[in-house]
Amino acid sequence: MSDAFITNGRIIDPANNIDEVGNLSIVNGKVKAVGGGEKHVSESPSATVYDATGLIVTPGFIDMHVHLREPGFEHKETIATGTAAAAAGGFTSVACIANTSPVIDTPEKIEQIYDIASETAATHVFPLGSITKNLAGDELTDMRGMRAAGAVGFSDDGVTVMNAALMRDALALSAELGFPIMVHCEEHNLNAGAVMNLGETSRKLGLLGSPNAAEDIIVARDIMLAEMTGGHLHVLHVSTAGAVELVRQGKRRGVHVTAEACPHHWILTDAEIEKQGTNAKMHPPLRTQTDIDAVIEGLRDGTIDAIATDHAPHAPEEKAQGMLEAPNGIIGLETCVPLVWTFLVEPGHLTVAEAIAKMTSIPANILGINRGTLSTGVVGDVTTINPDLVNRVDVRKSRSKSQNTPFGGWELKGWPAMTFKAGKGKLKT
Ligand SMILES: [Zn+2]
Repeated sequence: MSDAFITNGRIIDPANNIDEVGNLSIVNGKVKAVGGGEKHVSESPSATVYDATGLIVTPGFIDMHVHLREPGFEHKETIATGTAAAAAGGFTSVACIANTSPVIDTPEKIEQIYDIASETAATHVFPLGSITKNLAGDELTDMRGMRAAGAVGFSDDGVTVMNAALMRDALALSAELGFPIMVHCEEHNLNAGAVMNLGETSRKLGLLGSPNAAEDIIVARDIMLAEMTGGHLHVLHVSTAGAVELVRQGKRRGVHVTAEACPHHWILTDAEIEKQGTNAKMHPPLRTQTDIDAVIEGLRDGTIDAIATDHAPHAPEEKAQGMLEAPNGIIGLETCVPLVWTFLVEPGHLTVAEAIAKMTSIPANILGINRGTLSTGVVGDVTTINPDLVNRVDVRKSRSKSQNTPFGGWELKGWPAMTFKAGKGKLKT
């Protein structure tokens, strides 16, 4: 527990409609007082003072979609290194995906993640349990037990639960217990063998592509099942124009559906595969400019609620295997904030407050965690951003164990400056 006094920053707390220059006092790791300009003095004589002049001060960012790889794949990432990358990227809380080895599919394994995180993590870690045992898609896990052990949601991310009856049952339990069912949407038969988007580039390169329909079909199915059961469906990494429209229509009908998008899906097209090879290989794949425009419009009009990274580290030798063999995914924790700033805030797609809400209060609400605001008494997690700083992405400086990003060398604006986990400051150097 720490006391901090963050002075003279532009405090933006979307949940409380705050946007003013002032001071923020954290006492015993909790938010004590906000605002007040120069009249507001520290609530604690022993507080460490941080000058935030010229910086934006916000609730600590929350990434609801992170692969921390531990246990089982520690050569890619660990809870220690993944959360160090998260903290460097401005995040103070991450929700970690269950596709580790073993899969996080029992209450005991949820507890193990909390145990490791309490020893090694630089941020708060909120584990997600899997929907089906061992991600096999044929038997539901003990979601009730995992919920009691602290799972904040459930996901078989990486694969789709192809059995609609199981998804119905999972969403029915969601309706009863209130957690989100977070879905990776790709119809496996349409997607079989695909290593990128189906389109001009895949035909040119002679690679098997996945059609937008593979994603749209599952999004449509799961929205219908959420409508039928009253459960909370959260659509992970939306990548197609069709999926955006399906979520929009679902919301209009009053279905409890939320959605997120990742920076690569609103910045890069599938043409990137030609330039970057496996560093642009992920599922769902990079799509077309039409899809990018639709995802941005979805972010703008609130159809897409949250921004997440799908941070998916892989070792260099794994990504070097070529397009057919290399695993899917890219790292994202350290580049997310400047990508949001450069490609959403600067062009005017989102206001600063809207962008911040999509990384703070909104993901907190989806996960049902008491974070993402600067309300008095909430855990003192804070991020500061330097909105004017221009820097190049240097993957060699990454805290992640892996370096698989298509954004290496990109010049971006608007970088996180410091993060505070329960009032404890950490300078990004
Ligand atoms: Zn996924």
